[in-house]
Order: sequence, then structure tokens, then C-alpha cells
Amino acid sequence: MEKKYVYLFSEGNASMKNLLGGKGANLAEMTTLGIPVPTGFTVTTEACNKYYEDGKTISSEVMEQIYASIKELEKVAGKEFGSEEDPLLVSVRSGARVSMPGMMDTILNLGLNDSAVEVVANKTNNPRFAYDSYRRFIQMFSDVVMGIEKRLFEDKLDAMKEARGVKLDTDLNADDLKELVAQFKELYKKEKGEEFPQDPKVQLIESITAVFRSWDNPRAIVYRRLNDIPGDWGTAVNVQQMVFGNKGETSGTGVIFSRNPATGENKIYGEYLMNAQGEDVVAGIRTPQPIYQLEEQDPVIYKQLTDIIATLEAHYKDMQDMEITIEEGKLYFLQTRNGKRTAQAALKIAVDLVEDGTLTKEEAILKVEPKQLDTLLHPAFDVEELKKANVVAKGLPASPGAACGKIAFTADESKERAEKGEKVVLVRLETSPEDIEGMIAAEGILTVRGGMTSHAAVVARGMGTCCVAGCGEIKVDEKAKTVTIEDKTYGVDDYISIDGSTGNIYAEAVKTVSPEITGHFATFMGWADEIRKLKVRTNADTPRDTIQAVEFGAEGIGLCRTEHMFFAEDRIMAVREMIVAKNEEQRRKALDKILPMQRQDFTEIYEALEGMPATIRFLDPPLHEFVPHSDEEIAELAKEMGLTFEELKATVEDLHEFNPMMGHRGCRLAVSYPEIAEMQTRAVIEAALDVKAKKGYDIVPEIMIPLVGEIKELKYVKDVVVKTAEAVMEERGTKIEYHVGTMIEIPRAALTADEIAKEADFFSFGTNDLTQMTFGFSRDDAAKFLGSYYDKKIYEQDPFAKLDQTGVGQLVKIAAEKGRATRPDIKLGICGEHGGDPSSVEFCHNVGLNYVSCSPFRVPLARLAAAQAQVKNPR
Ligand code: PEP
Ligand code: MG
Repeated sequence: MEKKYVYLFSEGNASMKNLLGGKGANLAEMTTLGIPVPTGFTVTTEACNKYYEDGKTISSEVMEQIYASIKELEKVAGKEFGSEEDPLLVSVRSGARVSMPGMMDTILNLGLNDSAVEVVANKTNNPRFAYDSYRRFIQMFSDVVMGIEKRLFEDKLDAMKEARGVKLDTDLNADDLKELVAQFKELYKKEKGEEFPQDPKVQLIESITAVFRSWDNPRAIVYRRLNDIPGDWGTAVNVQQMVFGNKGETSGTGVIFSRNPATGENKIYGEYLMNAQGEDVVAGIRTPQPIYQLEEQDPVIYKQLTDIIATLEAHYKDMQDMEITIEEGKLYFLQTRNGKRTAQAALKIAVDLVEDGTLTKEEAILKVEPKQLDTLLHPAFDVEELKKANVVAKGLPASPGAACGKIAFTADESKERAEKGEKVVLVRLETSPEDIEGMIAAEGILTVRGGMTSHAAVVARGMGTCCVAGCGEIKVDEKAKTVTIEDKTYGVDDYISIDGSTGNIYAEAVKTVSPEITGHFATFMGWADEIRKLKVRTNADTPRDTIQAVEFGAEGIGLCRTEHMFFAEDRIMAVREMIVAKNEEQRRKALDKILPMQRQDFTEIYEALEGMPATIRFLDPPLHEFVPHSDEEIAELAKEMGLTFEELKATVEDLHEFNPMMGHRGCRLAVSYPEIAEMQTRAVIEAALDVKAKKGYDIVPEIMIPLVGEIKELKYVKDVVVKTAEAVMEERGTKIEYHVGTMIEIPRAALTADEIAKEADFFSFGTNDLTQMTFGFSRDDAAKFLGSYYDKKIYEQDPFAKLDQTGVGQLVKIAAEKGRATRPDIKLGICGEHGGDPSSVEFCHNVGLNYVSCSPFRVPLARLAAAQAQVKNPR
């Protein structure tokens, strides 16, 4: 049987998201529920994939099915494509499984041509409406399908308004618009070298092709990488009969959320505009009105609207984001989907839906994006500083949080300056999908135009970036790179601070502080903790970070990188002495100076953990990292150490390595200089004994030997550790339990994990190094060339951020299985950056690790991701 590439709305349902895309599946579901949805059909995501497989052409097989569906559409609509009597007009919209800014969005009024526009004008007795629709169509088709700059059309529209002496588009009359249509068509011909296509079928196929093409445009690829969306999902295309919100004062359009997307308050929230098409609301050209005002304007429609919203929310068991059109007093739903929301709103909604019995805790856990929790942990303004700061303007509080930085006026500038380490706030008239990278790079986003549903607002909320939108009080000159606020002008060197929770703007630097978490967050995270099986630890090397992580729910330290402690100003001298020591005696002398400091480090960390476990990793990086490099630094150190410049310089040169990441580092240091491991063991055990004696915590130190690739090297270092630990306990006349384990960071260690497990009480997967060693590219340099790999679609994701499950993951799996075969109770964890990435956490759950360890600010995210993994795949 022939494969089905096109589904009428009446043939699908909400479970078919993968095939019909989110929008298509929900349009089908609403159709089945009897909600007024203009009729239409969906070209599937498989057709999109086929388009690419077939060398970027729509095959005749798919084309035939599209034409057949148009016939069906014509029957239901009682109108005909290209008809001289009653032409069928449609919209074409993209619709991937998840909504994706950056792709082609919408073409409206498709089917209009020189004759159809006349028919529509006569039939509706509204030539103004007909020509307005046609000029919009030409403009959209030219811009999004044919890539002709939108600005060229806008210039003509502006010139027309100026010539007629009017301000608003709606002030132009039918004749003006008719003339504009002629100008637009001429412009099209000039740019494309051919007439504007008159055949609706050509218009349609071109538009569908444009949607497929947009799946792979650079903005969409960036968005996918950021949001873990695989390239092979493809997008569907929805073709739907037009209904018109711009037919006069009994028509209109709106965007509505079933609950407040910023706060989660259980009250419908949204905006509408009478006598307008959807793009007018989104573009922010005219200011829409709050939806509750519709109740006064048309109580019957309002009642119908709220009833349907309640039905949809109950049906989907989630907050809905809907698009409606009212055509001459009749209400239509053009879209519903689970609405994007702030983290605060997401938590409130999830908790409310459990409390009113709509959802179970397990279902609710899946409703919040782990990455979103980030925003809750992000800065707010320091209260005291804020009291002194002056509010100079106010916009819409579009996405909460606080941001402070110097002003950047373009997305490129924002990206470039942020890459150089500058904190910038992106200030624009409005944002568009091509700004995505600049928006990601910015601390916050401020726009002059647009409402709560504008591009900037929607995208910033999704990213969790602070955003103030629609701040009409300020004037931005993007060319001159100036902002004028209250008669004062600011430029790229000036600071601006914005508050995405209040909409307040400050033309000065206002300090930001970390937030406190309470209320719904605690309730929700409590459920996550009840559900998850995977423990969550943190990577921390200071008491400060440890305390922060414990506040965020960490259950111990999974990685304490001891070398970070060596850089402190008061000890770097002693460390350097140790490194440049010529013999063991000199080295031991230096180590004796370091010992009390290390012991103090561990004591403080044990105290901060209040008895929770800590994995202390022994010295790991190449030694030369600690050594001064410039001649001035060498001279200074030589003086301090009583050496000649030449002596020290020679030692430093001796330490040089061509490939330090694969050089004298990790356990290799302890093999060469066992006295370093002795000192560290002594510090760990003595600190544990001290804290146990002082505070009564039962500390079981976990000593971790890094970068092991061979059982014998682990055994060698472990013997040093055990001998020292036993000696220390002997001296102190008391015993404690302690564990010695290793990191799995080298492919050889993973492959020989059954042997390694003989000497290791635990494994911790160091997936930063394991990724580096498995791919064979440097974790410090890969970013320089990975860009071309994304562009060429060789990789979709940065393997240092998201675990490569196919390759590196396989090594993790092998090592876990082999380790357990030798030592069934071996404790397994991960401490590479991947421990804080949701999909990698899910992988760790599925492989059966005992814990993940990540940086303090990612602990809540990991707790939630671990709970979600358990709900999806109970273990
Ligand atoms: C790792 O390699 O994954 C790891 C945690 O160690 P580091 O990042 O310190 O090399
Ligand atoms: Mg490592």
C-alpha cells in the first residue's frame, strides 16, 4: 500500500505528534473534540524527511497526496482553489514535534491572485479587506518563501502612509491598498525576475517547500542544538482554511493562555485585537487589549471562549496556549499547545494540578523542564542596591530575573562581546529569530516593541533569560548605537540593568544576588526526591560551594578537585616549591608546608557536609600548570626560593610538555612522586578523624585516584594510600572506615574495568576526559572547530555538554557491567560535566549508576532529571 504522507485533521489525533507535529496533532485532536477549528490537513514529518532524502524536492507521490487532500478540503469548505466564484484561501504553517522559533512560521491568505482578490472583494462587499489580505499575502510569500527582504515592502507601505498623510495601516483605504498590491507585485518581479505566481497550487507547493527548507536553516539548527532536538525529526506542514480576523469590527484575533504564563495564576491570560490578523498581535505594531475586556465587548463569545479553554485544559491536563480568530462574530481555534511558561509558573501550575487531583505527582514531575529550574536559581537585584537605584523607564515584565550589563545593540555584537567575557544586555527595537545566538549570549533582553507574546518575550521565557519587552518609553537608534531615556543618551560603554519580574529599567549598574528558593519549589522538588532512585552529589572544592550545593539539595560531594586549592595566594609558593624540587627531600619539605593547609581544606569541607559523603580526588593536572611562565614571574619566584633565574628557568623548561593533557598528570604524578599521595592521604584521614572527634560525624573518606588506565598503576598508588592511612590511624590510636576508588576517564580503564574493580571500591566516570580521550579531540580546543561540525551536520551537539551515548556511553556501560561483575556492590557515579545535563542524567539512570555529581547550581536540575528518568523508566 502506498505510504500516507498527508492526513486530514479529521484523520489524526493528539498521540500522533511524531508524525503530524505538535500543531497538526492538536488541530486533529480539537477537530475530534468538536471544537470549532477551520478545516485543513497536515503534510507529515515523514514527508519532510523524504523531501531531504529526495534531494530537496517534493516527490510526485507526496505531491499527488497534497492535491488529493486539497480536493477533500474543497468539499468540506464548499470553496475551490483558484475558483472564479468562491476561491478557497488557506494558511500554511510549520509544525515540528515541539514548537521551534527560527523556522518559517506562517503564510496567510494563500490562494489569492489577481482574479480571486476581485471575487473576494465583491463577495464580501469589502474591497479594502480583499486588497489588504492580498498585499499581506504577497509580502509574506515574498519574504518567507522567496527570501525577498521584508523591509523593501515595509518601505513601500510606509511611503504610502506618508503620501496619504495617515499613521496606521488601517487608515489606508481600498484604493490605496490596491495600488500597494500593484507596487508589491512590481517589486516581486524586479527582485525575482518573474511575475508573482498566480496559480494557487504553485503558491502552495512553494510554501510547503519553504517550510521543509526552513527546518534546516542556521537559526533552526542553533535552536535544535540548544534544545536537544534531533535533526531527523523533521517538521510537518499544516494547511488550513483561512478565517479572517480583519473583516471589520466584529472580527478579531487573539493569543490566550489558560493560566498566567508568568506567575502560574489560575486565570485566563492573553491579548486580543479586533479587526486584525495574528501577525499584528505578534508584531506589536498595534497594542493589543487584555483578553478580559472581550467579556464587555462580546459576552456570548467570551463565554464560549472560556468554556472551550476549560475543556481543553481538562483534556490536556496542562496549561494551554491558544490562538483564536473571530470572524464576523464566529469563534475559531487555530491552535492549542501546552504553553511555555516561566519556571515559577511551571512549578505553581504543576503543584496546583496535583492538589486539585488532575495530575499524579509522577505526571506533574514530567511537566517541568529541568533546564528551566535554572532561572529560579538565577540572580535578582540586591535589595539594598535597588533602593538606591532610579527607575528610568518601565516595560512589560516578560521573563523574570535580573540582569545587568553594558548595552549591546545587535545580536552579533552581543555574541561577540559576551565571548570576550563582557556582560551585555541586548537592547533592540524588537527581536527576530535570527537574533537567537545574541539572545543566548546576553545577560538580559530589552525591547522597545512587542507584547508578552512577542518573539523576544516567548524566546526569553523559554531560555530562562531575563527580558523586559515593549518598553516604548525608550528610544533606540540601532544604527547610531544609542538609547535615549528621559533625554539622556547611552551607548555601548554604558551600563543598563533590567528587571524581568517588574519591567523596571535602570540606567546604571545594579548589583545582582542569588535567589532564595521556597514554596512551590520545595514542594515540587520534594516529590522529585521521593521518586528518584539516582542520588545527586555536587562537584565542589570550597566550603562555600559545598554549602550552596547542600542548600540546593546535594547529597554529598562527588568530586573535590584538590588542585583548585593549590592556587590560593597563600599557598602557591609552597606548591611551586614542591614542583621545582630537585629531589624527594626537597619535595617532602615543601609538602610539609602544604599538609596543614590541605588538612584545613578537608576539615572545612567535612564540616560543611555535616556527615554526608565526600569523594576527594588526588592531584590531577599537569604540574606545569602551577609554574610561572613569564620571565618576570620566574625571576620573582627564583628570588623567593633562593635560586638563580637560570636554574629555575631550566626547571620550568624541563616541565614543558607537548601534549600536557596526555602527559604527566593524574595518577602518573603519584607514581613518580608517591610522597604527594602520602601527604594528601594524611590530610584526608587526619581531617576526618578531627571532625569526627569534634563534631561526631561518621565520616567515611572516599579517596579517588584519577586518570587510571592500568590496574597496576592503581594498585601502586592505592598501596601508598593504604599504607599512609593505616599509619595515620595507628598514630592517632583510632580507626575509621575509608574507601579507595578510581575515576574512569581513559578508554583502557573502561575496557579493563573488571580488573580495575579488583582494586577499586568505587568508580566515578570522568566523562570530560573520557569524551576527550574517546573522540581524540581536546576538551580545551574542540570548541574552535565544532562549529563547522554543527554547520555540516556531522555533530548536532557538543559532546562535552551532552554525553555521546553511542560512543562514550558505550564505554560507560561496558565499565559499569565489568565493574559489577568483579565487585557486585561497587559504587558507580559520574562527575564529568554531563552529570548536570538532563539527557545524560537520564542515561546514567538507565545504566544503573548510583549517583550523578554536578556543579552546585545544577543540582536541582539533576534531581528533577533523575526523577523524570525514574518516571519514564522505573528501576
Ligand atoms: C572528568 O574528566 O570528567 C573530570 C571530572 O575530571 P576533570 O574535569 O577535573 O578532568
Ligand atoms: Mg578528568
